[in-house]
Amino acid sequence: MTTETLERETIDGFHLVIDALKLNDIDTIFALPGIPITDFLRIAQAEGMKVISFRHEQHAGNAAAAAGFLTQKPGICFTVSAPGFLNGLTALANATTNCFPMILISGSSEREIVDLQQGDYEEMDQLAIAKPLCKAAFRVLHAEDIGVGIARAVRSALSGRPGGVYLDLPAKLFAQSIDREAGQNSLIKVVDPAPRQIPAPDAVERALALLKGAKKPLVILGKGAAYARADDEIRSFIEKTGIPYLPMSMAKGLLPDNHGQSASAARSYVLAEADVVMLVGARLNWLLSHGKGKTWGAGSAKEGGNQQFIQVDISPTEADSNVAIAAPLVGDIGSCIAALNAGLGNGWQKPPADWTGGIADRKDKNLTKMAETLAKNPSPMNFHSALNVIREAVKARPDAIVVNEGANTLDFARSIVDMYEPRKRLDVGTWGIMGIGMGFAVAAAVTTGKPVIAIEGDSAFGFSGMEVETICRYNLPVCVIVFNNNGIYKGTDVNPLGDAMAPTQFVKEARYEMMMQAFGGVGVRADTPEQLKKALDEAVSSGKPTLINAIIDETAGTESGRITSLNPAMAKKK
Ligand code: ADP
Ligand code: MG
Repeated sequence: MTTETLERETIDGFHLVIDALKLNDIDTIFALPGIPITDFLRIAQAEGMKVISFRHEQHAGNAAAAAGFLTQKPGICFTVSAPGFLNGLTALANATTNCFPMILISGSSEREIVDLQQGDYEEMDQLAIAKPLCKAAFRVLHAEDIGVGIARAVRSALSGRPGGVYLDLPAKLFAQSIDREAGQNSLIKVVDPAPRQIPAPDAVERALALLKGAKKPLVILGKGAAYARADDEIRSFIEKTGIPYLPMSMAKGLLPDNHGQSASAARSYVLAEADVVMLVGARLNWLLSHGKGKTWGAGSAKEGGNQQFIQVDISPTEADSNVAIAAPLVGDIGSCIAALNAGLGNGWQKPPADWTGGIADRKDKNLTKMAETLAKNPSPMNFHSALNVIREAVKARPDAIVVNEGANTLDFARSIVDMYEPRKRLDVGTWGIMGIGMGFAVAAAVTTGKPVIAIEGDSAFGFSGMEVETICRYNLPVCVIVFNNNGIYKGTDVNPLGDAMAPTQFVKEARYEMMMQAFGGVGVRADTPEQLKKALDEAVSSGKPTLINAIIDETAGTESGRITSLNPAMAKKK
């Protein structure tokens, strides 16, 4: 037999993994090459997959997580063993926390040596370490099990509450060869990986009864609702019922932020006053003050208040995690909202006018105040005057994707930059994690082809800044705007001993724009809103990788942004 026929009759682990991924409609891999996955990535590319190679695994992992959120397919991240795997693990844990489907696939060292702790190259029991940090973890030892391994990973990532999955592939597996036909027959195309979960009719009735009796109802839309892609059902529910709604940050744009029923500009009022709150793909975690305390005014019935909750969620164990949920509605958001829409009937009464009118009054007042602040043009720029430019740019290009991280840069951008379309805002999510910026931006550009505007605090940008090379290398339509105020929170801290910079200070007058120039992209310094506008408009229309160094007043900014209450020193001062 010639080598050629031999090759045709067998198939190796490399090709089986690639074929299994392709069979499950996965066409993109975010990765960082090295032993033992370098050849895998080369072959994957030669076999027609899009391979996006990063400078640090954490950003490849973050890209996979964002791709998962944006596409409803598990984002795939490949890393090398031990240190590479650990670098990817933060992204995997973050994806799981945020309910984003992703699969971290890491090469690993020889099991026989690792398990006896004999000191292999990059020795680590990766499976054991990953397990508590993700939704599911698997290892494949035999080439004939690759199909099952990928199928289990895909199903685990997508079904029920989505999340991160770890798949351990020992180096030896890639080189194993098996009979080609048997190998191909062993691959599984996952049928219905995210099965719909139809809510029980009595649970729908219970929720509707509570809503119907409400005097001051409120809907809170979370990123689970954005992920679910039930955009039309949700919009029709909100508009048919006339109930005011609040979007959580990544649900902004699910309905346009300028929608008449958005209560964002009256957030504290509605949280404190609502009597029935319906959560749709949003958890009552710290971001919602756990559903209790003074944010929630009246408070739950248990606290002596009269607030009652409906929770629409795919996870049957989410309800009651923080406060009692009077009407849990377990199912996928599309099916749940469809059932509610069907149950509304013709006799639905819109909420009382004193509730909606009260909200409108507060909105008007707050929006007028905001407009006044945005119209100011201080020198140097502050967060508001710079963000006002971005606000207008996003209004003109509602299809652009906004990535946002930082402290003040995050808080201000979230409230100032309106979103008009679903799934156009990617941010620090449930953990409030820093470092997602460039990974998310790359994923957004690669998976959608739309312009990406990354609004970055100077500190936040530092976590993933080296990936501007990746952005330039793939010539991605990403415009990074660094809000440069010379430090963490602000740039004015002083070290009382005067012998070194304070821990929160950065090099003053840093030339961030030169980082993009270094790799062939466009770098611009902007001291005024006009300069910022010009550079941003050019970046969005040209699609060229761009970094705008936006010089912000170093005295602008609050310690810990809007979460000062979580900073022990600040809490002590109070
Ligand atoms: P936010 O931070 O925007 O409030 P969270 O991440 O806290 O959002 O909540 C998202 C919720 O959405 C999770 O509880 C998750 O179980 C739920 N979820 C995710 N996808 C779906 C879906 N397709 N159907 C129903 N619930 C979903
Ligand atoms: Mg700063």
